Amino acid sequence: MKYYSLNHKAQNVSFQEAVIQGLASDRGLYFPETLTPLDSAFFDSIANLSNEEIAFQAIKQFVGDEIPENILKEIINETLCFDFPLVEVEKDIYSLELFHGPTMAFKDVGARFMSRCIGYFNKDKKDYKSTVLVATSGDTGGAVANGFLGVKGVDVIILYPSGKVSDIQERQLTTLGQNIKALEVDGFFDDCQDMVKKAFLDPDLKHKNLTSANSINIARWLPQMFYFFFAYKALKKQNKPLIFSCPSGNFGNICAGIIAKKMGLPIEHFVASTNVNDTVPRFLQNGIYDPKSSKATISNAMDVGNPSNFIRIQEMYQNDLEQFKKDFSSYTFSDEETIAAMKSIYKIAGYISEPHGAIGYLGLKKELNNHQNAIGIFLETAHPIKFLDTVEPALNVQLPIPIQIESVLEVEKVSVKIKIYEDLKAFLIV
Ligand SMILES: *Cc1c(COP(=O)(O)O)cnc(C)c1O
Repeated sequence: MKYYSLNHKAQNVSFQEAVIQGLASDRGLYFPETLTPLDSAFFDSIANLSNEEIAFQAIKQFVGDEIPENILKEIINETLCFDFPLVEVEKDIYSLELFHGPTMAFKDVGARFMSRCIGYFNKDKKDYKSTVLVATSGDTGGAVANGFLGVKGVDVIILYPSGKVSDIQERQLTTLGQNIKALEVDGFFDDCQDMVKKAFLDPDLKHKNLTSANSINIARWLPQMFYFFFAYKALKKQNKPLIFSCPSGNFGNICAGIIAKKMGLPIEHFVASTNVNDTVPRFLQNGIYDPKSSKATISNAMDVGNPSNFIRIQEMYQNDLEQFKKDFSSYTFSDEETIAAMKSIYKIAGYISEPHGAIGYLGLKKELNNHQNAIGIFLETAHPIKFLDTVEPALNVQLPIPIQIESVLEVEKVSVKIKIYEDLKAFLIV
């Protein structure tokens, strides 16, 4: 499979090159040259297939022959080392829980898949090291750190804003050791992001083979399609139209869902549910894409003013807004509405959600008014413990600490403090 840049200037590249580069040389995102629907026989028999078999069939065409089948299967087995339960919270409304992985965020799926692909590509390269550089406002860093821990030929450097991630999130970044290093930046998330961007463009760092591990990287983004298939497998026998609502920030998750639909997965409609960072909901209303700088909310993993994957979605609809609106809606919600939803879900169903999932629920409820006899699924993208400062007071509950989290609470934090880009550069160059 070849990938082209959505800026249409750089050369088309292989899967391996696209994964290793992250972003094309013309700064465009990579997109697969072809999307081939899966056989109807696959969907007919999906209930008899394991998650691993489903994932293999789904991802195969995007990897091509660049990773041997038996190794790709191993990568998938290691990626999917946890469950993806569907919990019915109201009649015909399900929470698809994506948070049972090692860092309790859906980003574990993409991070585990990507790290193992890079590990495979590096296996025979002597004296070659790549450096994964990520800026995080919380969940990405932990998932990437955990996913890449111990992967041969890769150093991971994570930049996070000092004092602005939760205690649990900070520990997930700073306690692993080995090939994972955490840089604590005296500044905001945007400062971290700016330093990372600068490093990618810095000719003095070319020899470091820098790559990114956010959802612009195809190996982090594409495997996110898996769990849409898993939900379909579980709900197929009910024979009703399926509506998915994704709490959206950079729009990587929902974009992976749309790819699954283009591959033939019968999904009736998508909802991108956002917090007050409402660039896409505004676009659907007035047809003008007008990104704004991000605003801080309680669903902070979605505080994105200019969602990087939206361009991939537009590519799939060839910028045809009317066609796009048939498949896709987008709604925005405030922090007050989010808290009210968390309370209501808890009261009605006894179900503990967190701010991101609750926004997914709100968008789903709104859209279900337009569909009769449908089943709605909202993605619950993180475990409530990761947002305990919001969840516990809002619901007046005390959450037990899951084992994945307990293990990082016992370890001493290790980080290096930096202030400016030159500090990062000095750290990278040695
Ligand atoms: C990253 C993240 C999101 C947003 O996902 P996108 O793919 O960027 O739209 C939502 N919820 C949580 C908890 C996240 O960590």
